[in-house]
Amino acid sequence: MRPFAFETVSSTTRAVEAAVGARDAGHAQFLAGGTTLIDLMKLDVMRPLRVIDINALQADGLGRIEAGDKELRLGALVRMADAADDAGINRNFPAIAQSLQLAASQQIRNMASLGGNVLQRTRCPYFRDVSYAQCNKRNPGSGCAALDGFNRAHAVLGTSDQCIASYPGDFAQALIAFDAKVDIAGPRGVRTIPFAELHREPGVAPDIETSLQPGDMITGFVVPVAPWSRRSLFLKVRDRESYEFALASAAVALDVDGGQVRDARIALGGVATVPWRAKSAEAALKGKPVDDRTTRAAADAAFEGARGREHNTFKIELGKRTLMRALAQVASMEI
Ligand code: FAD
Ligand code: SF4
Repeated sequence: MRPFAFETVSSTTRAVEAAVGARDAGHAQFLAGGTTLIDLMKLDVMRPLRVIDINALQADGLGRIEAGDKELRLGALVRMADAADDAGINRNFPAIAQSLQLAASQQIRNMASLGGNVLQRTRCPYFRDVSYAQCNKRNPGSGCAALDGFNRAHAVLGTSDQCIASYPGDFAQALIAFDAKVDIAGPRGVRTIPFAELHREPGVAPDIETSLQPGDMITGFVVPVAPWSRRSLFLKVRDRESYEFALASAAVALDVDGGQVRDARIALGGVATVPWRAKSAEAALKGKPVDDRTTRAAADAAFEGARGREHNTFKIELGKRTLMRALAQVASMEI
């Protein structure tokens, strides 16, 4: 691991100042649970010059879960395990609770924060191993070893000729399906943006993964209460049943009236370069019953334009079947 300056902060203002004020602005990283950051620093993939420990801000409101009539507020430093176990989230936003319960291991969930979770980096092996010279995300302009390499776990949606890395997290799919927003504190004050605007598809600049600017810190998430929040679930398909990233996943939520879908929310994971909202699939279900024909049509719409490579083309059909199964299950939920 390379040398770095370390600071513990006790206010959001100081955290932002510490990140932007130093001569190494742009090379500062916040430390929450450290389960992504420290791993990648040890691997020499991330090389921050300054690490700012923000954990003391848990007492400053960033560790709180607040459930109101209109919205759920989750502080960025809430631990994954605490949100996964929260009775209110399990009852009112099952897809959020399940996306966290099915992620990582209990030990990691005890340590890892919600803010750090949405900002975790891809598991592309060529990104995580600096002995590979070609990786546009790690080393812009160097090429992409995955295009002609072993790309079984890579994305089929939102890819570019510069990068096909899949977004690895689970929680983000639930957030994007529920139209969540992100609270951010930055050098120019505080702002709130739709969660859907946080992550960027790779395009020609895979190294720029989010819309965050140097010094921006996520302070929390706001999830609106909606008619579909309770009838929701997160389904994750992976190589083994525990402690594994998704090959394909679906966060789905339905508002059903008299057997017909009034409104639907659908997001896909494991198959895309960013948390992926499937609005065309939602539109395909509106006003229809949930049956084999309508869920197949929704799944086909969701994967229209998907592009497979040598080892990951199976993900297109797997992703469709995952979505169809999730829709069938959520439609038959007792709420
Ligand atoms: P950190 O490591 O502290 O930070 C991660 C990044 O986010 C850093 O760049 C940091 O600077 C930045 N950051 C942290 N907090 C903020 C903030 N508030 N504002 C701005 N920037 C911030 N995840 C899944 O979703 N599903 C899985 O199945 C899964 N399996 C895993 C298996 C293993 C073996 C491991 C090691 C991890 C796995 N994970 C999985 C990822 C894990 O959930 C993340 O590592 C974790 O959520 C990151 O949170 P953290 O608090 O530890 O982040
Ligand atoms: Fe790097 Fe993206 Fe290519 Fe993986 S897929 S090697 S992260 S550029």
